[in-house]
Amino acid sequence: MKNFSVIGSGFSGMSAACFLAKAGNDVTVYEKNTTNGGRARSFTEQGFTFDMGPSWYWMPDVFEKFFGNFGMHPSDYYELVQLDPGFQVIFGKDNVLAVPASMAGIEDMFEGIEKGSAVKLKKFLDEGRYMYNTGMQHLVYRPSYSWAEYINYDVLKGVTKLHVFQSVRSHVRSYFKDERLVALMEFPVLFLGAMAHQIPALYSLMNYAALSLGTWYPMGGMLKIPQAMEDLARSMGVQFRNDCEITKLNVANGSVTSLNTINGTPHTNGVIATGDYHHMEQYLLEPQYRNYTEQYWTKKTFAPSCLIFYIGVNKRVKKLIHHNLFFDASIDKHSNDIYTDPQWPEDPLFYACCPSKTDPDVAPEGMENLFVLIPVAPGLKDTEEVRERYYKKVMSRMEQWCGDTITEHVVYKRSYCINDFMADYHSYKGNAYGLANTLMQTAVLKPSLRNKTIKNLFYAGQLTVPGPGVPPALISGQIAAGQLLKNTN
Ligand SMILES: Cc1cc2nc3c(=O)[nH]c(=O)nc-3n(C[C@H](O)[C@H](O)[C@H](O)COP(=O)(O)OP(=O)(O)OC[C@H]3O[C@@H](n4cnc5c(N)ncnc54)[C@H](O)[C@@H]3O)c2cc1C
Repeated sequence: MKNFSVIGSGFSGMSAACFLAKAGNDVTVYEKNTTNGGRARSFTEQGFTFDMGPSWYWMPDVFEKFFGNFGMHPSDYYELVQLDPGFQVIFGKDNVLAVPASMAGIEDMFEGIEKGSAVKLKKFLDEGRYMYNTGMQHLVYRPSYSWAEYINYDVLKGVTKLHVFQSVRSHVRSYFKDERLVALMEFPVLFLGAMAHQIPALYSLMNYAALSLGTWYPMGGMLKIPQAMEDLARSMGVQFRNDCEITKLNVANGSVTSLNTINGTPHTNGVIATGDYHHMEQYLLEPQYRNYTEQYWTKKTFAPSCLIFYIGVNKRVKKLIHHNLFFDASIDKHSNDIYTDPQWPEDPLFYACCPSKTDPDVAPEGMENLFVLIPVAPGLKDTEEVRERYYKKVMSRMEQWCGDTITEHVVYKRSYCINDFMADYHSYKGNAYGLANTLMQTAVLKPSLRNKTIKNLFYAGQLTVPGPGVPPALISGQIAAGQLLKNTN
């Protein structure tokens, strides 16, 4: 039996811990924050329970597969409901697309907007299913040390169907003309931290995930997932040390031998570091052991950060559903302000999540739990004054569209932005979702899962393979655990 250490209790850390424990090892998770879940932590104030980070539950099969590895199923821990409509995209006053849960409903909606598009959608999603299945079976569960890992018969046979060198934007536009349908089909890749023209068309597997596999919600909130993982980990003997920041990894003879914590220097046989990769390397390792220099990070394309408002409203708000995307401004202008010329966006797109529409437990009776998110460039100057300015902007747009007063009914409000991401997670430039999945930052081209000089140190999480998002974080922890077990055998 070995004694393994995991830094960070986000999805990737808890996933890694579960796999290491299942293999019969002593596992300790060290987490700097008081509560577990990383970016998916939650908090309760005045009867409102707010999920702090993720709110979209997509790819339920990945969660089933994760828990299935341990003889369990998500339903052993939480009740999942499918949202119908899955989400609505707001383009203007009377210009809204509410996406039904059923495929027949989605096809009707497409056909009503653009003649002939229902048939095209079927074909698009057939391709998306192929990409999804190929991706899930042959691509994402790999350590990505070399392109050779991806060469197998099934992948080669279908390589043209994977559209690796085309962008999502051109792929979508080769099918659909109506700008609203184009926006709807391009939206899911925003989860990968980049715009549709920067992302390989292979990632239109996300459309299959969004439209065909459905949008789900765990009753009680997204917090149910990290809670489930923590329960599972503890049931296998994993120990959690909270409020326990790791400040250094001590190396001897090419291996990490111990970790510096605020209350001791525990010995270790191997480490999986799941805090933000940049911090793990630049602050915990001496320069000769780092995979990358500071300059390397400055050249990377980061996924956006975001300005979030957690809001309690003392009445029900009309017209909002669970997931609402306010696309009533120019996406090109906003993306320019994130990626090309980083600055606070004049007229931002934003997302409003209202889980109390589905779940009575997240707000007091008759009230509404609102989470409003504006994507912004990482590294911007974040001040109270700026946050307040954007609060007024988005609340006024939401009130206008809803035709309802909201601001004067706000009984709880907290904002969260770049400075908080840096303070809470040591996030590089306050990024929220890690690295963008652009073509040049995909698979082998991502920061490596393994440390190149220390044989018992691996990285996991949204800055390494396979990429940002909850399902990839689960997978990342699994891959890293497999590699550590192999290397320390
Ligand atoms: C606002 C927001 C909305 C999102 N929405 C979605 C969504 O709807 N759907 C989706 O799939 N994904 C979403 N994501 C992305 C998803 O939440 C993340 O990709 C995922 O949670 C990352 O998990 P992780 O384990 O890689 O990292 P983290 O969750 O960041 O976990 C890393 C942990 O390491 C800890 N740590 C760091 N340094 C140290 C140290 N020195 N010592 C000890 N501990 C340390 C941190 O405190 C943290 O708890 C969202 C993210 C954000 C921020």
